[in-house]
Amino acid sequence: SVSAGVVGLPNVGKSTIFNALTEAGADSANYPFCTIDPNVGIVPVPDPRLDIINAHITTQEVIPTVVEIVDIAGLVKGASEGEGLGNKFLANIREVDAILHVVRCFEDSDVTHVEGGVDPARDVDIINTELILADMQTVDKRLEKAKRAAKSQDKEEIARVKVLEKVIETLNEGLPARSLELNDNERRLVHDCHLLTMKPVLYVANVDENDLEGQSEHVQTLRNLAEGEKSGVVVLCGSIESELAELEDAEKREMLEGLGIDEPALNVLVRAAYKLLGLQSFFTAGEKEVRAWTIPVGATAPQAAGVIHTDFEKRFIRAEVYTVDALEEHGDEAGIRSAGKLRLEGKDYVVKDGDIMHIRHNA
Ligand code: GDP
Repeated sequence: SVSAGVVGLPNVGKSTIFNALTEAGADSANYPFCTIDPNVGIVPVPDPRLDIINAHITTQEVIPTVVEIVDIAGLVKGASEGEGLGNKFLANIREVDAILHVVRCFEDSDVTHVEGGVDPARDVDIINTELILADMQTVDKRLEKAKRAAKSQDKEEIARVKVLEKVIETLNEGLPARSLELNDNERRLVHDCHLLTMKPVLYVANVDENDLEGQSEHVQTLRNLAEGEKSGVVVLCGSIESELAELEDAEKREMLEGLGIDEPALNVLVRAAYKLLGLQSFFTAGEKEVRAWTIPVGATAPQAAGVIHTDFEKRFIRAEVYTVDALEEHGDEAGIRSAGKLRLEGKDYVVKDGDIMHIRHNA
């Protein structure tokens, strides 16, 4: 399964945020693949569309889908030089599919900053530099091998040398590999390098309690920097999120009201991480449960059926599909059907984010 890793310098609030994320704790009974690794969190994906469906379809249980978030302990300067722990951090980052980069934007004299004062640009640079240096080593090695292989006029290897040289050039400029625009074939040619700086990144600005909208200069700096590399920024306050995560519904609503916000910023973070991973949801809705399921963008109806049960993929017949909008407009499935808004889709149908589906199969 795919996962996003939380990275950042020590003392920027990674554990606080990771713990708040896992506090809600997905009910493991529904997710048999749940690992017991304490560094891996199975986090429910808050989806307002589930509430809309639930408002129209009476059901026993509403089950959100989940996303896997990995806590990757503090990366420090020199990691790419292969000093013991440094290597391990990089190996852990290599295993995730996207990076949530937590950056300290809060001032608090009680919390020491490993590099001195609060300085988002410097912090981001320290981490990105380590990742770039590690990638340079990877690409150098791969390039050498590809060059040798290219001598025998192997077309594939000749093409690979070209792409790798472009990547090295980018890294040498101090830029992440993801900033290089590559076509699908070029992407395929460098895929086996599993480059750290090729992974999509979302910056998480951990702000002061009194700066929930991220108006401070620190956050502005981070936004500019993220924009330069076409990455996103989510603003949240770790200490507030960890308080919210511990509250029961009624108290939580009260605290949110007091803060003047609709939902915890963590919800926004989880949805953004889900999207960053290229994931989307479809729903099943019935008396027993209303449930969100995860599929990659581009998945077909049989592949979606396979997420529910492997047998459903092979024995897929067709899907009856409707949208959340249609449900809101026509009230229930009977209404949708008589309005002619219930679509029958076959094996080649590419599922859209938010589709509500009944899978017909002969399993
Ligand atoms: P990590 O080393 O990056 O995992 O950082 P921690 O989550 O352990 O946080 C380091 C310290 O910063 C702890 O004392 C936290 O309570 C504190 N901290 C985390 N988030 C915030 C925040 O949003 N505001 C303030 N003032 N302190 C925070």
